[in-house]
Amino acid sequence: MRYSETLLPTLKETPADAEVISHQLMLRAGFIRKLTAGVYSYLPLGLKAIRKVENIVREEMNRAGAQELLLPMVQPAELWKETGRYQKYGPELLRFKDRHERESCLGPTHEEVITDLARREIHSWRNLPINLYQIQTKFRDEIRPRFGLMRGREFIMKDAYSFDVSDEAALISYQKMFDAYKRIFTRCGLDFRAVQADSGAIGGNYSHEFMVLAATGEDTIVVCNECDYAANMEKAEVAAPAAGNDDAPLDLEKVETPGKRKVVTVCEFLGINPQQLVKTMVYRVEKGDEVEFVAVCVRGDREVEEVKLKNLLGASEVELAEDKAVFDATGVPTGYLGPVGIRIRLVADQEVAAMRNFYAGGNEKNIHMKNINCGRDFTPEAVADLRQITIEDPCPQCGGRLSLTEGIEVGHVFKLGTRYSEAMNATFQDSDGLEKPLAMGCYGIGVTRVVAAAIEQNHDRDGIIFPLPLAPMQVVIVNLGTDDEEITGAAENLYAELQAEGVDVLLDDREERPGIKFKDADLLGIPWRITVGRGFKKDGNFELRNRRSGEVESLAPESAARELKSRIVRELQID
Ligand code: ATP
Ligand code: MG
Repeated sequence: MRYSETLLPTLKETPADAEVISHQLMLRAGFIRKLTAGVYSYLPLGLKAIRKVENIVREEMNRAGAQELLLPMVQPAELWKETGRYQKYGPELLRFKDRHERESCLGPTHEEVITDLARREIHSWRNLPINLYQIQTKFRDEIRPRFGLMRGREFIMKDAYSFDVSDEAALISYQKMFDAYKRIFTRCGLDFRAVQADSGAIGGNYSHEFMVLAATGEDTIVVCNECDYAANMEKAEVAAPAAGNDDAPLDLEKVETPGKRKVVTVCEFLGINPQQLVKTMVYRVEKGDEVEFVAVCVRGDREVEEVKLKNLLGASEVELAEDKAVFDATGVPTGYLGPVGIRIRLVADQEVAAMRNFYAGGNEKNIHMKNINCGRDFTPEAVADLRQITIEDPCPQCGGRLSLTEGIEVGHVFKLGTRYSEAMNATFQDSDGLEKPLAMGCYGIGVTRVVAAAIEQNHDRDGIIFPLPLAPMQVVIVNLGTDDEEITGAAENLYAELQAEGVDVLLDDREERPGIKFKDADLLGIPWRITVGRGFKKDGNFELRNRRSGEVESLAPESAARELKSRIVRELQID
């Protein structure tokens, strides 16, 4: 690639609307340009980086025995109605009508389409297992597209779907994908963790997210400092509390708390600490078409984990209720709700059940109660782990110390069970002659997000520092004598040799000042830079510089191409 002939519009200034470093650097390096909110054009070098990720993904998916296909992006609403997701999927699903008034949507994911294909084409256990994948543009009308390729509306995803004869067989497919993902992200040169994720109604540990560790990550991950436990915050199980103390239950009493509605103000007013108080939150709970209000009790200093609540209730959506809805449902203004005598369904965090003689709202304006005890004064419909874990909690696996880190979700593996195959009647004939629903799994990788995540993890003041496997260009040759025949001849020679070796090489043949060429080479993050300039005139050698270490060495022109090629091959070697 010749710089002078390439669309590579680098920018000196950091664009004002780019908040995170990967977004800033991708704009500055001329990799992407925004067309409209969350929708980007991939310019030549940006596309090359994307292709590098795609190729690694493709190689590893093929190695794991999956087959590539390509499914349509425009999908008929009928399919989505069969699984109930046409209604259930939020506004992220872009719905529209075609000229014949047929309802359609743009694919945010492809479970329906692939299950439709499977029910038409897979009929026997003899065709199983099978794993089909594609690398394709997805559209999700995200409410807050941001951070460039990190959370776009249009983005490239690899999605794979496995089909098996049984649940046990599906676990083998799951494990294969899990292993393939580990290889993929290792090969991409990323620092990542596979974390247990929420698997919704299915339960069990059959959902893992692959997280690239980076401060700008939108997800919080809980990791153990002492064992290999790692989980998404929303999934991390809180160990059951030690049995409550033996304090004798005291008489239930009302206390006046005029105008005190918040945990801190109530505690201040009563001279207690939040660990002695229980707060009661009301949630609006959606289950299919039904809506109901459910109260949740947690200790005053704890936070309800909505994903846990959602799973406990088998709900499709849970959302903190508005003050007015709370009053309509309970007859109590927010701030004074409590478990004793509450009018709606009540569930409690396990810690609350172990507390003795605690305080809570009195279900009456300006009133709280003291000496409340679960079991004696109220009986929740369920007692469960419903709160967010904290770093003071012990590791659920080994009891060790936990810490929190931020991560970027780049991949997700998920055991689906027969949710889609049953809804869409995708069955096969098993070896025992019985007709059974296909056991499914789905596996996504955010290809464009991987490039952004790699940059979040690999950059410095001067720009990107690509890990070699993702580098759009592996070598940049900086010709510092475009008007010097000797220098230009040597640079051109090297360029031809490297190309012949199959190295991805950019020749900076622009008539620009050296400073500008060096700055651009650094900004683009190309791992190796070779300068052909004054030094070459003096001693006949090229200067080789490593972008990451800054190390400089001298290279003899005769062996330069071979030497670089062998370094690249060595670094990209996989076992
Ligand atoms: P998120 O929680 O980040 O919204 P998700 O869990 O909805 O993502 P999946 O349905 O699991 O996403 O999609 C598979 C992968 O696609 C994700 O792991 C992520 O890497 C990528 N991805 C999802 N949404 C986006 C997006 N808006 N922009 C870029 N990549 C995305
Ligand atoms: Mg996900």
